[in-house]
Amino acid sequence: MRESQSDVPLAFVPAPRPLVEVVGENTFFPARRIYCVGRNFLAHIREMGANEREPPFFFQKPTDSIVPSGSSLPYPSATHDLQHEIELVLAIGRSGRDIPVRQAATHVFGLAAGIDLTRRDLQVQARKASRPWESGKSFDHSAPIGPIRRFNGLTLPTSGAITLRVNEVVRQQGDLAELIWRLDEVISELSRLFSLEPGDLVFTGTPAGVGTVVPGDRIVGEVAGTEGITLTISPAT
Ligand code: MN
Repeated sequence: MRESQSDVPLAFVPAPRPLVEVVGENTFFPARRIYCVGRNFLAHIREMGANEREPPFFFQKPTDSIVPSGSSLPYPSATHDLQHEIELVLAIGRSGRDIPVRQAATHVFGLAAGIDLTRRDLQVQARKASRPWESGKSFDHSAPIGPIRRFNGLTLPTSGAITLRVNEVVRQQGDLAELIWRLDEVISELSRLFSLEPGDLVFTGTPAGVGTVVPGDRIVGEVAGTEGITLTISPAT
């Protein structure tokens, strides 16, 4: 693979890297890969009827599925059960492999709130058939992410509220203290499987209370230590 595009003619102009706003700065975070943790809150595992003894695991969403906070998101195709999952998102700022838990915080650029949008009907079909989850999890516009707040701490948060409201009604309410893999453990585990690079984003799992949204719904997500996220669902385009 050629590393440079400057010295070869391109067949078409490629889409630019998706960007995420950085709070309080005139800079944007150029996104690379999006990783997600599955089943990182016991109460959510129970509501999904999944095996409580299996450890959390990872899946990915495409980078161009990022949607900025404040957007009106078109209702996705091929589903009758679009569901919200509010999550803390880690933005990676420094490369690393096999990162020790105690060093994980030094690889973090910042924290954001994200919604792991899920076509639950397609995900459940895939799960029952032991097939991959892409159709349920990794579709267009499936990764709304709020602005990234820079993180300069020595240790990542181990507690703090996570809340999601739909039309002012609380649907999800949890606390980072309930995470099965803490934030530093998520980074360490992920870096054993993949080389982490600046620009990577990691959705760290959702608490219980996931549920269906329909066109017209207004979603407000709040996660301690972040700027939160808002989203409106609009009719399919
Ligand atoms: Mn999730």
